[in-house]
Amino acid sequence: MPAAIEFKGVSRHYGEVRALDGVSFTVQEGEFFSMLGPSGSGKTTSLRLMAGFEQPSSGSLTLLGREAAGTPPYERDVNTVFQDYALFPHMNVLDNVAYGLMVKKVPKAARHAMAREALAMVALPDHAQRTPAQLSGGQRQRVALARALVNRPRILLLDEPLGALDMKLREQMQMELKVLHRKLGITFVYVTHDQGEALSMSDRIAVFNHGKIEQIASPRELYHQPRTRFVADFVGSANVIDTTLAHTLTGQPRAFAVRQENISVLPAGTSATAGRLQVEGEVLAIQFLGANQRLEVQVGDQVITAMQTESAAASDLAAHTQPGGRVALSWAPQHMVMLDA
Ligand code: ADP
Ligand code: MG
Repeated sequence: MPAAIEFKGVSRHYGEVRALDGVSFTVQEGEFFSMLGPSGSGKTTSLRLMAGFEQPSSGSLTLLGREAAGTPPYERDVNTVFQDYALFPHMNVLDNVAYGLMVKKVPKAARHAMAREALAMVALPDHAQRTPAQLSGGQRQRVALARALVNRPRILLLDEPLGALDMKLREQMQMELKVLHRKLGITFVYVTHDQGEALSMSDRIAVFNHGKIEQIASPRELYHQPRTRFVADFVGSANVIDTTLAHTLTGQPRAFAVRQENISVLPAGTSATAGRLQVEGEVLAIQFLGANQRLEVQVGDQVITAMQTESAAASDLAAHTQPGGRVALSWAPQHMVMLDA
C-alpha cells in the first residue's frame, strides 16, 4: 500500500523566510498524524503543500503514491478544514455542505442526499435548514467538517480546527474527532500548537520548529523519550538540565531532561541516597494545583520545577517548602533522558 503522503526534502521559502526547510516524512494511510509546533514553525505551510495551495521551492511530495506536482487542489483526494470555518453566511447549512458538489455540477437531489449523510456523520442531522448565524461555535465547526467530508476524501487535513472553541467544547470535539477518524478509516493530518491536544489524539506526532522537524514519534515516545531540548520543553514541559550543571552531576557535559513528577523534594541537607542524583536550591515559588503543588527551585543559574503531592506537602517538609526555604531535589537515573541537541 502506498503511503498517504510522502515529503522528500521539501522546502518552501518566501524570500528570506524559510517557512519549510528540507523536510522529509511519511504519513501512512489511515493514520491520525499531527503536526505540532509553535506559531510560525511551518505547520500550515506543510498543510497547504499537501492541499496544493502552495508548491515547494525545492523537493517533492507524493499523495497516495502519485507525484503531487502538477495536480491542482480540486483533483487531489484531499480536503481541508480551516480554523475560521469560512462558511457562507447567506446559505443554509445543507447548501454550505453541498457547495463543493454544486461546483462539480452534481445534481441537486444527489448532492443534498450526500450533504445529509455528511451532516449525520458529524452528528448534526437536524440543522440542515439553519444559517450559520443560527448555530453555536461548535455546531459551525461540525458544518465545516461535514463540508470537508461530503465528497469522501481519502485524506482530511485539519488546520487548528478547534482553536476558536472554549476548553470544554474543545475537549469534547477532540473525542468526537477521534471516534470519527476510527469510523471513517481515512487519513487525518491534524495541525495544532497545543501539545495536550496532539498527545491525546494522535497515532504519531511530528514536532515542528523553525521550518524543520525535530522529532517524529508516538505520543508516549515523544513524552518519555524526547530527543532534543526543544521537544523536551515543548511537549509536557520537562526540566532541561543544561550542560554546565549536567557536567557537575554526571561528569559529562551533555544536557538531559527530567520531568517534574519524577523529582522528589527533601529537606535541604538530607544526605543523598546511593544511586540517585541530588541537587540543592532555594524555593522561588509554589503553585497550588489541587491534588499536587508545583515548586520552582533555583539551582545555580537554573530553575527546576518539581511536583509534590498534597500529603507530602503537609508533612514535616512544609517548613522548607516556602518561598525562600532551601530544599534538596532528587531523582533516579532511569528518569533522566539524555538529549542530542
Ligand atoms: P504555522 O502554521 O506553524 O504557524 P506557517 O506555516 O503559517 O506557520 O508559517 C511559517 C513561516 O512562514 C512564518 O514565519 C510565516 O510568517 C511565513 N509565511 C507563511 N506564509 C507566507 C507567505 N505567503 N509569505 C511570506 N511569509 C509567509
Ligand atoms: Mg498555522
